[in-house]
Amino acid sequence: MYKKTPSQQKLLGVETQVSPSLRNRLESSWAHLFRCEVFPILFRNEDRYAMLYGTTGRPNFSVARLLGLCLLQEWNNLSDQEALDEFSFDIRWRYALDVSDEEDYLSRRSLVEFRRRLAAKDPEMKLIRNVFDNVRDSALNKLGVSSANQRVDSTHIISNIRVRGRLALFSNTLTQFLKSLNEDQLSRVPKAIKEWHANEPEGWFGLGPAEQKVKLEELAQYLYELIGLFEKDDELTGSEPYQLLNRLFSEQCEFANSSDSSKVQVKKKSEGAALQSPYDPDASCGHKGPGYSLHIAETCKNTGKTEIITDYEVHGAARSDIGKALPVIERLDAAGLKPETLFADGGYPSVPSASKVIEQGIEFVTPVNRSRLSDDIVGRDLFSFDSEGLVTRCPMGHSPIDHRVLSGNNSTRRSLHAIFDGNACRSCTMLDRCPVRAPNHRLKGCNARDTVGDFRLEITAELRLRDHMYALQQTTEWKDRYKIRAGIEATNSELKRSHGIGKLRVRRLTKVCFAVACKVIACNIKRWAKARWALKRPLEGCISSLCVRVKVLLAILGRNSERVLA
Ligand code: SF4
Repeated sequence: MYKKTPSQQKLLGVETQVSPSLRNRLESSWAHLFRCEVFPILFRNEDRYAMLYGTTGRPNFSVARLLGLCLLQEWNNLSDQEALDEFSFDIRWRYALDVSDEEDYLSRRSLVEFRRRLAAKDPEMKLIRNVFDNVRDSALNKLGVSSANQRVDSTHIISNIRVRGRLALFSNTLTQFLKSLNEDQLSRVPKAIKEWHANEPEGWFGLGPAEQKVKLEELAQYLYELIGLFEKDDELTGSEPYQLLNRLFSEQCEFANSSDSSKVQVKKKSEGAALQSPYDPDASCGHKGPGYSLHIAETCKNTGKTEIITDYEVHGAARSDIGKALPVIERLDAAGLKPETLFADGGYPSVPSASKVIEQGIEFVTPVNRSRLSDDIVGRDLFSFDSEGLVTRCPMGHSPIDHRVLSGNNSTRRSLHAIFDGNACRSCTMLDRCPVRAPNHRLKGCNARDTVGDFRLEITAELRLRDHMYALQQTTEWKDRYKIRAGIEATNSELKRSHGIGKLRVRRLTKVCFAVACKVIACNIKRWAKARWALKRPLEGCISSLCVRVKVLLAILGRNSERVLA
């Protein structure tokens, strides 16, 4: 049964049980900020979690304290038992979470059950994102940090899985399926598979590459046999272990002969977001390895102030960063934190997504690449255009003879081209550095100057934007401005070193999202506490030096008045 945490402060809190000097230390530690600023946020959010509980039965342990415990656990990257020990015995945790004697025991089961219910009832993890938003907004407001400049980056994280190659993947997926069968279903499994399961599911250790290949083909055949054997068993086909067999087969196997479906072979290479482990089907493999990708955005250029993480997103590692700046901006805009300038690395922009970012009035400072074009080829930024996007002059001052819609370079997509007089281009000294295309109908290896016909230049808005951005990024001024982006690498490193975000203790996207959200919130709280302490120290220094001066002045005044009286 859901019960709200009583709002009344205890008369004899934990801070009353320690000496004045320890109390002073407690009040200048992170725990004080947590208790005064973060705990009230958790308390205000508490009612949203009522859906995790029924309307009858024993009242729940305080949701605000449970959430606070999860934040402190991920802050310190602790296991459940370690976190519960800290909750019971560390006075700072008890002070931060305002724990009284009646609430000082929390069982491991309650903590695990809270997270399980949260993952089941809120798979998109909107509740914890709401806590993140509230903490971020309070930190930005209280510290006076501006969100006008922000930077975004991604980093690779991995859940609690071990990826040891295809043989282990096949073996584990088959084992997980066989373990999920009841006695009756197991009796239908062919004898060879049962024997393999009983004797050697891990028996591939020490095999050479050739033997491993044979073993892999054997396991692929088992996979195929089991899928066929149970495909009419409605109870089983809906289960996750069976669906994983199917997924593994479609991603990794094929028939050796298209006319013969009895001989199965393993594909040379799997494609797309392929299964990495049956224990975490949401993890996928990207260019940085198997697992997940975490995107974070944070404020930057707040000289002398701390920077606050403003957004995060987690997805499978197979998904590329290209275009990921757009959902980040959408969320920041909804929170009233749309940046004026956004810094990102070269993985984020495709030209269409960069143009969408710029359309929203944001300066997108990110390097673009011109793929196959060498550096000495000039861009379309050196051509003159009229207000309708038509070319008026080339860099050598020639006007185009026509504009036509033609198929684009290396694509069937049709787009607008400016047509230049072939004779003028062939005799131009700048031809080798000009992006115009020579006529298509020529022999292989024929030089552009030996062609016949007119030259053309594709002039889509996207290509013009790409060339404009490319020209800008060659300047020293742009390079100096762009240096600020690199600062976010330190945040990635901080999240990994201090909070253990690189290797999580959980599996599956929902739980990964929860752990990541808690760690990112914890990082913001830590930065907030440090910044507040940094602000407080000079103030305390000023007050104490003022007190000393006042005391000296009073002493002098006292001595002078004594002399006058004497
Ligand atoms: S090659 Fe043609 S389009 Fe390019 S600068 Fe020379 S004349 Fe102008």
